[in-house]
Amino acid sequence: MAQNTVSVLVPVAVAAPYSYAVPDGMRVAPGDIVDVPLGTRGVVGVVWDDPPDREIGHNRLRPISAKYDAPPLSREIRAFVDWVARYTMTTRGMVLRMVLRAPALQPEAPVSGVRLAGPAPARLTPARSRVLEVAADGMAWSKSGLAAAAGVGTSVVAGLVEAGTLHEVSMPAAPVARPPEVDFATPALNAEQKAAADVLRAMAADGGYAVALLDGITGSGKTEVYFEAVAEALRHGRQVLILIPEIALTTGFLERFAARFGTRPAEWHSEVGPRIRERTWRGVADGSARVVVGARSALFLPFAELGLIVVDEEHDLAYKQEDRVFYSARDMAVVRGHLAGFPVVLSSATPSIESRVNADAGRYTRLVLSDRYAEARLPEIAAIDMRRHPPERGRHLSPPLAAAVAATLAEGQQALLFLNRRGYAPLTLCRTCGHRFQCPNCSTWLVEHRFRGVLLCHHCGHSEKRPDHCPNCGDTESLVAVGPGVERLGEEVAARFPGARTILMSSDMIGGMERLREELVSIEKGEVDIVIGTQLVAKGHNFPYLTLVGVVDGDLGLAFGDLRAAERTFQLLSQVTGRAGRAGGASRALVQTFAPENPVIRAIVSGDREAFYASEIAARREAGLPPFGRLAGIVVSGPDRASAQGYANALRRAEPRTEKISVLGPAEAPLAVVRGRHRFRLLVHAPRSADIQGYLQAWLNAAPAPRGGVRVQVDIDPQSFL
Ligand code: ADP
Ligand code: ZN
Repeated sequence: MAQNTVSVLVPVAVAAPYSYAVPDGMRVAPGDIVDVPLGTRGVVGVVWDDPPDREIGHNRLRPISAKYDAPPLSREIRAFVDWVARYTMTTRGMVLRMVLRAPALQPEAPVSGVRLAGPAPARLTPARSRVLEVAADGMAWSKSGLAAAAGVGTSVVAGLVEAGTLHEVSMPAAPVARPPEVDFATPALNAEQKAAADVLRAMAADGGYAVALLDGITGSGKTEVYFEAVAEALRHGRQVLILIPEIALTTGFLERFAARFGTRPAEWHSEVGPRIRERTWRGVADGSARVVVGARSALFLPFAELGLIVVDEEHDLAYKQEDRVFYSARDMAVVRGHLAGFPVVLSSATPSIESRVNADAGRYTRLVLSDRYAEARLPEIAAIDMRRHPPERGRHLSPPLAAAVAATLAEGQQALLFLNRRGYAPLTLCRTCGHRFQCPNCSTWLVEHRFRGVLLCHHCGHSEKRPDHCPNCGDTESLVAVGPGVERLGEEVAARFPGARTILMSSDMIGGMERLREELVSIEKGEVDIVIGTQLVAKGHNFPYLTLVGVVDGDLGLAFGDLRAAERTFQLLSQVTGRAGRAGGASRALVQTFAPENPVIRAIVSGDREAFYASEIAARREAGLPPFGRLAGIVVSGPDRASAQGYANALRRAEPRTEKISVLGPAEAPLAVVRGRHRFRLLVHAPRSADIQGYLQAWLNAAPAPRGGVRVQVDIDPQSFL
């Protein structure tokens, strides 16, 4: 009787669960995955903890249609969903949607196999003998596995089944990943590594909430060190999640994991097919998958007994999602650890200012690795002042950088030229009339991609054929490319170093992920002389032959001038220069810049990261900016400029006045139009102690409802101000 009404959260944009009747004979508990009617359709939902709505008469309640035989969502992840929704000011349903991305609702069908059971066949061929030899252990084999092990075709196995020698049996489906062996290959750690690993092991063994910031220069062995925490959590019977930005490209990581633990971990990212995803989801939920390595979305997997999260490259922007639910996977990983009571390891060569401040304040334990492992040495870094060493007209490599590339090639070593700009040129204009090619949907210039012969918008994907005459004045031969992209740099390199084996790496090249992975392997093997790449090549890779890194435009990131421009540029330049010299021997990094006196460039060149952190932290503290204060962005967008601006102004007028919290704007967003929607921004600046969500909620409740296609998006802790 007690159980006839429950609340069920459905994965659509709803703030609260709905009440449903439990049909006779069905028993459900919070966390159970069920099918419920919603409007005219049926959806998958989860029985939630909220008390059901007692006001609705039982005769008006719709019943749950079915309960799935799937592992229920734990109390821990239900609490996490509620917390993330409240913090990011998103509906709980939309956060649940991230948990139910690929739910395995049906138990996996057992696979059919064969086993030696009957009498020997009348006719015994050499192929059949080999099969019988392999199957002599009496174990169940899949047909194809047995055929492969015996080196015969599957028809031989089928023949033995027909003869009654092999019997068909059904066996449980193999787990999506084998359990790691914690002592498969334990590394010999140096003193500094050991000290850090000891602290991490103690945290993992203890199992309570704690955060460690593993702050070690590139190549210092951070991965080896946090693997020891992973091993310890596994020894204590817990599951582990390792988050990695760009995991789809980081195949080398999976092999390193296998070298340490004897088997590959389960993977979770956009390149994993739907079937493996479902199996991984179930393996995570039923506890058979012990370690998952994944992209930020893996944070919402329903682990049965999660006991450690590692966030590798914790400073990386890829952890911030700016779509539907705006959240930082690094910050929410710490929250998940806090809610469930387990440790979190944040690892980086260039920690975010937020994490560094948390460590300095004693909230996180900072573990420092200050040396590269073994013989490897950091590269010598120097700036090239482009005012004194200008490139020739129409070219982008200064004479000193070009000479350094030539010297590197002469020594048979590898050079990397880094330019964080996809395509051929960021702007195309007509020399005769000044016409510039702009995206029809966005307020951005179209980027020429010469390999594909198109002009492309990097924001909405709009593409058009590159015309051979100006659409404005009709002049032919008057269109010019302005500024360099990696494709144009590739042209220059081909002209300067015709004999070199050159590779161009950019996320938008034809061939997709598979080709990029193959290219990374060939760079690792030293089959390439010059690598030209965007930030794709800056992160995490180990290129043993690389001894020269040339940063073509060191000032690019500083140009944005937003709150995080200095930090971002420092991180990116540290990462990319840190690719050089990872296998020992002398190496160099050269940074082309028009502003060698800029503090970021100075910090990179002098290697004085502490000076950079000190000055950046002081500046943030002075201005009350994160993490010393809180920010929230509000983007108002509408189908036309007037409606967006009108609503943004109305919103501003509805603002509840307080002394502590200030609001800037509305101002037209730097990216004023995206996908045809006009955008205005407001920025809320509050002290650390303020309840910024409560304030925003009161404000939005007081404001008139947006109409006419106008939308309001709140971004707590914004990373992007565009
Ligand atoms: P980071 O993540 O700090 O950049 P890595 O963990 O990738 O550094 O280590 C850099 C290189 O040094 C890798 O090739 C790694 O295998 C090697 N290495 C680091 N520490 C050890 C160790 N204790 N024993 C063996 N190899 C190590
Ligand atoms: Zn566009």
